[in-house]
Parts: sequence; C-alpha cells; structure tokens
Amino acid sequence: MDFELTEEQIMSRDMARKFAEQEILPTLKENERQEKFDPGIIKKMATKGLLAPHIPQEYGGLGLDYVTSAIIWESLCWASLAVTQASVSGPIQPATNLLDAGTEEQKKKYLPSVCKGDLIMSGAVVEPNAGSDSSMIETTAIRSNNFWVINGTKMFITNGEIADIVLFIAQTDKSKGLKGLTSFIVERDTPGFSSTPMKGKISWRGGSEGTLHFTDMELPLENQVGEIGSALRDALRGIDTARLFLASGCVGLAQSCLESCIKYAKERIQFGKPIGGFQLIQEIIAEMATRTEASRWLTYRAADLKSRGVRHIKEMSYAKYFAAETALWIASQAVKIHGSFGTFDDYPVGHHYQDAITATILGGTAQMHQLTIGQQLLEMAAFR
Ligand SMILES: Cc1cc2nc3c(=O)[nH]c(=O)nc-3n(C[C@H](O)[C@H](O)[C@H](O)COP(=O)(O)OP(=O)(O)OC[C@H]3O[C@@H](n4cnc5c(N)ncnc54)[C@H](O)[C@@H]3O)c2cc1C
Repeated sequence: MDFELTEEQIMSRDMARKFAEQEILPTLKENERQEKFDPGIIKKMATKGLLAPHIPQEYGGLGLDYVTSAIIWESLCWASLAVTQASVSGPIQPATNLLDAGTEEQKKKYLPSVCKGDLIMSGAVVEPNAGSDSSMIETTAIRSNNFWVINGTKMFITNGEIADIVLFIAQTDKSKGLKGLTSFIVERDTPGFSSTPMKGKISWRGGSEGTLHFTDMELPLENQVGEIGSALRDALRGIDTARLFLASGCVGLAQSCLESCIKYAKERIQFGKPIGGFQLIQEIIAEMATRTEASRWLTYRAADLKSRGVRHIKEMSYAKYFAAETALWIASQAVKIHGSFGTFDDYPVGHHYQDAITATILGGTAQMHQLTIGQQLLEMAAFR
C-alpha cells in the first residue's frame, strides 16, 4: 500500500489547479450570474491535455490511470464542479460508452474529435418520466426497412443545447424491460432532432443543460451503438466513470471551501480576535478537514480498484455517496463561517454550496447509492 502521489500525479494536480485558477475562476462569477456556460473552455482544456485523461491514446485521450484522472478532476472542480462537468462530461460518460460498445468505425469517426474538443458530445438517458428508473424510458426506436425511426424527449441533458453529437438510449422492445433498451448516436443536423435550453436553475448555474426532442427522426442503421437490448450493460463503465468524476469533483469542492474558511477565519476579527481563535470555529474547521480527507481517500481507493480492473461496485458507491453528502455539509458550514459575506458570490463558498446540491443528485442519488451498497452487502435487492 502506497499513499504517496507519484511525480506525474503531482504534476497533473498542479497543472489542473493552475488551469482552474487562470481559466475557470476569472469568468465564473459573471457566467454564473447569467446562467451561462462558455463552451470555449472545452477546447482550452483539450489543449492542456485535461479534457480526456482516461481515454486511450489511440482514440485521442491521454490513456492515464483513474487515480491520476480523479486527481485532475478534483483540481479542476476546486474552481467549479458545474463548469468542469459541462466541459468533461462528453469524454467521461458517452465517449466511454462508445469506446466500449461502438464499432471501430464509430470510434475512429467521433472519439478523437471529442477528445480534442472539436466535437461536443452529450449522453442522454433521463426523460420526464424516467430518472433513476430507466425501465420507464418512453423514447421509442422502431425499425423500418433501412433506418430507425425515433420519437421521444430527453431532459436535463448536459450540453443538450449545444452538443454536436448525442449518444442516447431508446426503447426497442418494451416487453423486455431493461433488456429492451438500445443505444444510438445522432448528429445535430439530423432532421427531426431539436433541442431547447433549460433555464431557471438554483444550482449548477455555470453548467449547461437542455431538453432534446426526437420527432419522427430517421437514423441510418449504422447509427445503432452496440447490440439491440444491450444499452444498459454497455453503459456501465461510462456510468461508473461519471460516478468517479462526481466523487472527485466533490472532493475538490470541499477542498476549496476548507481553504476559503481557513483564510477567512484568520482574517475576520470579531470580539477582539480572529474568529479562527474561537474553539467552536476550530471544531467546524477540524470536522471539515477530516471529512474532506475521508472523501478523498474513499475516492482514490475506488479509482485505484477501477484502474486495476478489480470489482468495485460498493467502493464506488461509498465514494460518490459520501463525497457528495460531505460536500453539501462542508459547503453549508463554509457559508456559515463566512457569515453574511458567504451568502454573496464574492467568496467561492456560496456557489459551491449551490453546486453541492446538484452533486448529490447527479451520478446516482444518495438513496440509489445506499440501495446499491445495501444490495452488495446483503446480497438482496431492495428495488427491482
Ligand atoms: C445539472 C444536471 C445535469 C444532468 N445531466 C444529465 C445528462 O447529461 N444525461 C442524462 O441522461 N441525465 C442527466 N441529468 C439527470 C440526472 O441524471 C437525474 O436527474 C438523476 O438520475 C435523478 O433522476 P430524477 O431527477 O428523475 O429523480 P428520481 O429518480 O425521480 O428521484 C426522486 C427522488 O426519489 C428517490 N428515489 C427514487 N427511487 C427510489 C427508490 N427505489 N428508493 C428510495 N428512493 C428513491 C431519489 O433518490 C430522489 O431523492 C442531469 C441532471 C442535472 C440536475
């Protein structure tokens, strides 16, 4: 067991942190106020090799292990979880799905451009009536002679409004439930495909989500990804990678809150001394630091198992569940330590508090991870 980061990991961490400070932070406040995501950041990340660390080199990524990837994601999310998620979500989930299930032709056609930031890719599963329960998916794909006809709506889709390509799941045989779901890829200019932005968020305001509409959309047969009925099985590694990303991101968010609190508690004078000199403030900061470290090591542990190809279902759920709940708790304490200043966006803690709310939902809600952990430990499912 070795808990030390390698030189390459330290370099990756420092480079990602510098990028977060120089490229994400300066425009964050204004963009969040306008509920705006600037897709230009995607290309900038790609240029620095931060966009797709985990994708194999032959498809345009860096081919790094998952611990190093997690360290990079943690450092980027130190500035903003929402902006980082909007930037890297294409390479993380849908690109991983395509890597696992796509034909060589599909992979060569799309993945290098996604990793270079030339194509924005979304992954679309969730619908108005299908969230945690994918068996409720209503989007249909009906086979005609030489093409598929798609009808349906996808909701809350990261970059749905700006994506050039979307990997989505549709129902090809309702009678087969979860085994009746198939994946497809669609390019934006396909007739019958349209999207609308989703505005009015109280959280994740630096991100970008949209609703997708498929109306009698005809897709060539070669746009099917993987086998008929294998969509969920094919998506597993991508979903797992998205969970790792969110756990890492929550560690970065918690770290930022902790750093801000330590600085503020040394500077803010009340009752004749820095508030950091009061025992009750020290108790909160000690608890924040301890929980951040616990999240970090649960995350690195899951990442290490994933890198080594060892089964890690419950370890990934420990990491995502704990890191997200911890991030929300830490961010709420951080706002309190900053007093009224913490409720304005001049300090990072307010926007982290907002983003932490969404982090508890994305990548599987707390309840879904608790049920997964319970199922793994008890060998019986409480759902499905
Ligand atoms: C910013 C953002 C970006 C997103 N990006 C994407 C994207 O790119 N692609 C995509 O497909 N989706 C995306 N989503 C959707 C997201 O994945 C879903 O919102 C999430 O899976 C939860 O689904 P839901 O909101 O329908 O909640 P529901 O599944 O309806 O859950 C509601 C509540 O009920 C609880 N619950 C549900 N089932 C059970 C049970 N069996 N036992 C106990 N409790 C239960 C849940 O834990 C939750 O608390 C995004 C969402 C957001 C907010």
